[in-house]
Amino acid sequence: MARRTKIYEGKAKILYEGPEPGTIVQFFKDDATAFNAQKKDVIEGKGVLNNRLSEYFMVGLQNIGIPTHFLKRLNMREQLVRSCEIVPLEVIVRNYAAGSLCTRLGVEEGTQLPRPIVEYCYKDDALGDPLVTEEHIAAFGWASQQEMDDILSLALRVNDYLSGVMYGVGIRLVDFKIEIGRVFEGDYQRLVVADEISPDSCRLWDLETGRKLDKDVFRRDLGNLTDAYSEVAKRLGILQNNATSIKPTVVN
Ligand code: UDP
Repeated sequence: MARRTKIYEGKAKILYEGPEPGTIVQFFKDDATAFNAQKKDVIEGKGVLNNRLSEYFMVGLQNIGIPTHFLKRLNMREQLVRSCEIVPLEVIVRNYAAGSLCTRLGVEEGTQLPRPIVEYCYKDDALGDPLVTEEHIAAFGWASQQEMDDILSLALRVNDYLSGVMYGVGIRLVDFKIEIGRVFEGDYQRLVVADEISPDSCRLWDLETGRKLDKDVFRRDLGNLTDAYSEVAKRLGILQNNATSIKPTVVN
């Protein structure tokens, strides 16, 4: 069996060289980290769920004309994606106040925001991914002005799509983070939604009960994380409704 070349290992995923040039295999680990990796655990089944959920959202985005890096799911834990140059920003969209917005601005958790708020953090673990403004992004050349316009428009389109899909299954999309990649095609370059979209990178609250169905379950010790992620997958029809385990019951 041929050994694969590992390109990068992050907190929740490993990237391997793909079978063809310009492709990458994205492997979803079961590792969970929070508070800049100060809290760590292995949550059995999380990687399988995130692989399926991210596939679901990326395919949904592509179906409405929003480009992503996703090519196809390979197996339970891996997906094939287009290789891209990641813009070094975490793009956060917020519909309701939660997390760092509450701490920074003293807004009560759960407050509906008058309009979606888009924030940018500079991707640097050593610095704790600091919040930055468009001035910093332009001054340090992390993205061009044209790219920033495109990133804002992509982020708001993703927000509309994800909010609608979630609302349809009784879940409030409180906030989420996406990453954007540059894909090169000959002389052209375009931006795509990259990385992953999963309950690791979104805040999802049950519309009726307010139950948290995202990584805050792990961050705040609110119960079983795979139960929460499985609930999201079941509501979206990715897992059978009577499924108690993600292993034998995943619908293909
Ligand atoms: N987020 C993420 N990765 C990060 C930071 C934030 O996926 O490194 C997501 C987080 O899950 C939430 C949103 O971005 O859905 C906003 O996070 P926030 O700024 O409130 O930070 P946190 O409270 O998670 O530290």
